[in-house]
Amino acid sequence: MQPETRQLLKLTDNIANKLEKLHLHSAWDLALHLPLRYEDETQIIPIAAAPIGEICQVEGVVLHQEIQFKPRKQLIARIKDDSGACLNLRFIHFYPNHQKQLAQGATVRALGEIKRGFYGDEMIHPKLKSPENNKLAQSLTPIYPTTNGLNQPTLRKAVQAALDAVDLTEVLPEKLLKSLKLPSLAESLRTLHNPPPELSMQTLADGAFPAWQRLKFDELLAQQLSMRLARQRRKSGNAKPLIGNGVLSKKLLANLPFRLTHAQQRVCDEIRADLANHVPMHRLLQGDVGSGKTIVAALSALVALECEGVQVAIMAPTEILAEQHFIKFKQWFETLGIRVAWLSGSLKKKAKDEAKAALANGEIRVVVGTHALFQDDVLFDNLGLVIVDEQHRFGVAQRLALKNKGQDVHQLMMSATPIPRTLAMSFLADLDVSSIDELPPNRTPIKTKLVNQLRRNDVEGFVLSTCQKGQQAYWVCPLIEESETLQLQTATDTLAELQNHLPSLNIGLVHGRMKAAEKAAVMSEFISGSLNVLVATTVIEVGVDVPNASLMVIEHAERMGLAQLHQLRGRVGRGAVASTCVLLFAEPLGQVSKARLKVIHEHTDGFEIARQDLEIRGPGEFLGARQSGAPMLRFADLQTDMVLLEQARQAAADLVAHEPDVVARHLERWLGSREGFLAA
Ligand code: ADP
Ligand code: MG
Repeated sequence: MQPETRQLLKLTDNIANKLEKLHLHSAWDLALHLPLRYEDETQIIPIAAAPIGEICQVEGVVLHQEIQFKPRKQLIARIKDDSGACLNLRFIHFYPNHQKQLAQGATVRALGEIKRGFYGDEMIHPKLKSPENNKLAQSLTPIYPTTNGLNQPTLRKAVQAALDAVDLTEVLPEKLLKSLKLPSLAESLRTLHNPPPELSMQTLADGAFPAWQRLKFDELLAQQLSMRLARQRRKSGNAKPLIGNGVLSKKLLANLPFRLTHAQQRVCDEIRADLANHVPMHRLLQGDVGSGKTIVAALSALVALECEGVQVAIMAPTEILAEQHFIKFKQWFETLGIRVAWLSGSLKKKAKDEAKAALANGEIRVVVGTHALFQDDVLFDNLGLVIVDEQHRFGVAQRLALKNKGQDVHQLMMSATPIPRTLAMSFLADLDVSSIDELPPNRTPIKTKLVNQLRRNDVEGFVLSTCQKGQQAYWVCPLIEESETLQLQTATDTLAELQNHLPSLNIGLVHGRMKAAEKAAVMSEFISGSLNVLVATTVIEVGVDVPNASLMVIEHAERMGLAQLHQLRGRVGRGAVASTCVLLFAEPLGQVSKARLKVIHEHTDGFEIARQDLEIRGPGEFLGARQSGAPMLRFADLQTDMVLLEQARQAAADLVAHEPDVVARHLERWLGSREGFLAA
């Protein structure tokens, strides 16, 4: 945070640092930091009439206080009010101050959600106040998203100071606001930060409330504008046109045991046309699992390699996948006389330094690796093309690092997760898309079976008979989000059990905690066929390619997301033999799990599955915003705000064409320091 901002808002260093943690750097960032919800401290509800399961405020006299030690240490106080009813206040974390405030005979005000407890109704960790020095609030209290050690009153004060400090003059043209029936930004912000007494909780929670509509519109507009500008910048960018002579690709094609499908040929042509241009390519290659994206990547790389001195970097989100690509590219390229380098985080320092030196002086022209490829200290001599596999798995920060590396570099992104239209329109507006809409021939469709966990023995028998035919099997252990240790335990148990029940088979284990080299060793045993069965945590999810594997068993499939199941299932059905995917599930099944299993059982088409997935869980998660850590859209929701998105899109086109001042001022307010994120 700038020292001037800190002074202007009268913030201590400590508070300023906490605000930085929330990505709040400027006064505008603070003014746009809007409440997550509101609390009603305007009234006191008689305990006898207080609703269960809703947040409310009560006031009573403490009858009794005690510290219990079982099942764990906790503070419990029982209060009673004029309505004659009692309520327990329970604190699992508490300080001496709590005990003081809740001394027997004291009057306290408590705000929280009332739950039916075993020993009567209770509030867990209510917000406490002593009534003497606190009149009832006049309007609803905003509750802001915050971080550890930054309490609501402090944050609220900072926001108010910012609200007073910023220039709230309207930036958007009046005509636009009128036609969309949107209130002014100043009014909207004031209403949301300091709701007038007459506004109810319900009104404020409604996304259709005009003040929220205005904020959402502005946010979407900022995104659309920055996307348009990014596209403009890119179009005027100056990449090296890559026009290959076709010699290397012809050789590679001649060496392949198969011919490209029409779809593969078509996307190769599209990519080649982009590469020949001085506008940096920004293309997404989407194609279902198993559609053959890797060879398209290799052929694209060759176009670049046919040009004097140009380098190509290929990046994958996990070590296992990157390693697989490395092996494949090496096998394809070394017969063409091209050396391929390997770079990943787990590489020993010496080997890493060697690879980096060879990239920096141009000695090596192809490198495969994880995001280690885009650390600041990796320099390229003449980077011309970057290929990113499973790009949706990378977080925003990584995509940003990549972008910074190659302003004027052609980029090919690959994904098996098709992008819904709303996302394509918003986040990925600056992306051209090629689709492989055809699978290679002679694939026998994968049979999917739903099997109750109770029939595990039958499934083990099926594994045995499959392996006895010379084929191989994956056995995927359940995802246990809460505990990696537990997940590992389950995987080791499964391995032991299978070894015990199927002593004639060679069974290996691969999991997320293993060192990269150990993982690679197990994988190569499986690839070579010396292991019959590979027990795995979901680390094998993306990209692994072992055509001889024809059986995939997934335990506790009901816990997994659809995209994940589809990706996992796509690991089999890659060879010519009929493949099976067994989804083991445990009863009872929840609504969502039931819906997911039905979809994955009935459909094999990734696009259809993605569509239904979107319906079941909404686009936020789909984007991987959660894993990226950076908030992308704070207010708007792509699923409910389609209309606003379309309006913002049209307005953006108009403003960029006719009102560059407005564009600049709007972006300054909305993006300020954070501009990069939305465009990443
Ligand atoms: P994905 O699109 O999921 O990354 P891969 O590139 O790993 O798929 O390809 C899956 C499998 O299909 C690989 O074994 C690959 O060699 C094979 N393959 C790719 N293209 C063809 C083709 N045109 N004909 C036959 N097999 C192909
Ligand atoms: Mg792949």
